[in-house]
Amino acid sequence: MRQFTGKSVYKGIVLGKVSVLRKQDDQVRRKKIEDAEAEIKKVEAATDKAKEQLQKLYEKALKEVGEANAAIFEVHQMMLEDDDYLDSIYNMIRTQLVNASYVVAVTGDNFAQMFAGMDDDYMKARAADIKDISNRLIRILEGSGEAELSSGQPSIIVADDLSPSETVQMDKDKILALVTVHGSTNSHTAILARTMNIPALIGVPLNLEEIQDGMTAVVDGFKGEVTFEPDEELCAQTRIKVEEEQEKRCLLESLKGQESITADGRKVHLYANIGSVSDVGYVLENDAEGIGLFRSEFLYLGRDSFPTEEEQFHAYKQVAQTMAGKKVIIRTLDIGADKQVDYFNLGKEDNPAMGYRAIRICLKQPDIFKAQLRALLRAAVFGNISIMYPMITSEEEVEKIYEIVGAVENELDEQGIPYRHPEQGVMIETPAAVMVSDELAGMVDFFSIGTNDLTQYTLAIDRQNEKLDDFYNPHHKAVLRMIRLVVENAHKHGKWAGICGELGADLSLTKEFVCMGVDELSVAPSMVLKIRKAIRDTDTSAK
Ligand code: PEP
Ligand code: MG
Repeated sequence: MRQFTGKSVYKGIVLGKVSVLRKQDDQVRRKKIEDAEAEIKKVEAATDKAKEQLQKLYEKALKEVGEANAAIFEVHQMMLEDDDYLDSIYNMIRTQLVNASYVVAVTGDNFAQMFAGMDDDYMKARAADIKDISNRLIRILEGSGEAELSSGQPSIIVADDLSPSETVQMDKDKILALVTVHGSTNSHTAILARTMNIPALIGVPLNLEEIQDGMTAVVDGFKGEVTFEPDEELCAQTRIKVEEEQEKRCLLESLKGQESITADGRKVHLYANIGSVSDVGYVLENDAEGIGLFRSEFLYLGRDSFPTEEEQFHAYKQVAQTMAGKKVIIRTLDIGADKQVDYFNLGKEDNPAMGYRAIRICLKQPDIFKAQLRALLRAAVFGNISIMYPMITSEEEVEKIYEIVGAVENELDEQGIPYRHPEQGVMIETPAAVMVSDELAGMVDFFSIGTNDLTQYTLAIDRQNEKLDDFYNPHHKAVLRMIRLVVENAHKHGKWAGICGELGADLSLTKEFVCMGVDELSVAPSMVLKIRKAIRDTDTSAK
């Protein structure tokens, strides 16, 4: 039995099998081999397996994100049949007598460089596909990572760290818990865990070399502990705890269909945060009254070219229709900082959190912004969609946004394409936006306070820097006073103000928020019923 402690980002407990997600860079070593034909057979078997995985991914994506988005997995299947690519691998194994993983890595790099150097933009973009299929083959050859995830049993994912694009590609049905060596409590791994209702530990000092796929482990998010190869006693205790948790969950179930209203009659709109179309299932399952934050940038992650207007339109339409008239607040893309996407070519920045990100990209590269706005305005015909803009700092930015929205609407009018002008709000997540919230409130329909970034910028603490987790205090008076000010300024202008950052789900602050007059809380789906209970248990007239 080996036990490690980390920081828990979601309180839950599981007992299950481990699946280690290893990064290829650490894995691929050049080794001499003797039997070239046997090594080639391994590549052939890996290619068949990769095609099988891709077919499954295609079918999953088809259901979740539509045909246009799923097509990439078909393209990857075809690439795996490319004679030039395969011959190059086979030749190198035969002539140099080196191991398959190494050869695939080198061939992948060579082909990717060749594509990247081409003039045609479409061919350039294929470089990332070649890397992707090569990485898939290597994972299979090394017996690590996704092979286990997409075909095996649900498991506890153990990784060094998880980037947002890695998490977006994961088969969420196959994840029991997340355990990472790195990552901060405010990272998107943490947000994913809360969305999915699964225990997650970060900052666990593990040596991944010592952890093998298939090991049994207990992840206890209450204690912040992971135990590998637990003894029978711990397994038995864990089974009891899992059952107790299920019972508590059943009690919360009874709150489904109930209003989110305090004992003295104050109504709070209780919505959920999502990152993908497939998360809508969690929203409905947890009885949220709407979607308060759809992080649309996740449609841009984990792929190698911009999603087209049509793909986005279908995604937004699907969410709006599934929510059947309930409010769906879609945030325009918030790329940059920790959410890096190669094809945006953002370049390296010394200080990306304060860099070229979110609305700044949209205002500087209006073509990207316009494609998203067209998709949103068109999808708004099919449900109750509102648009929300991230990282706002000034009234001028809002004016510029409105100019672009106006231009997009004129275009749609001219083309005779149906659309609806939606409610528009801004995220309040910079101190500047707080300080001009009086003026901003006169320009928009609503505010949604992004406490994750607001805390980062107010306390001058990089939310991704795990060394600073102890200093990252969203309960800081400065942050709470800002929230109060923003709500007051919204109400002065007859507008509503909500919170969509993680602080909105902090049960120790629910009463304080309700007393401040916060109109809406948008939280991880797994927190909806807990917050509803806290709201219903609150009496703002009592001291
Ligand atoms: C926030 O900053 O609080 C927020 C909700 O946005 P994100 O976490 O996606 O930056
Ligand atoms: Mg933010």
